[in-house]
Amino acid sequence: MLFLLLDVSGVCHLRCQRCLEDLPHSVDLASRLQLLEGDDLMQDDASDEVDGIEASKELDVLALVEDEILLSLPFAPRHDEGVCELATNSFGRADDRFGMLAQLKNKF
Ligand SMILES: [Zn+2]
Repeated sequence: MLFLLLDVSGVCHLRCQRCLEDLPHSVDLASRLQLLEGDDLMQDDASDEVDGIEASKELDVLALVEDEILLSLPFAPRHDEGVCELATNSFGRADDRFGMLAQLKNKF
């Protein structure tokens, strides 16, 4: 039996579904995928804890890693309770940005 071991760690920047501000999300994944050939894939008898994937000559590992990360992400990411209020106060900064844009526009 052949296995592919994935060990992924890093930080993804998600968007908080409450305040729409940046939400850093730590990713720390370790998964074991069983490499199966066409026939084995049909009678996928891999146990529940191990996912079976089709082994091809050229496996798109990057896409595989991407899928694993996407699957691990929360469906509706949010800051912890109370943290969003800080972000709401930063709307002042957003206004400043618009102010700066207006100033730039007046220059031209
Ligand atoms: Zn938030």
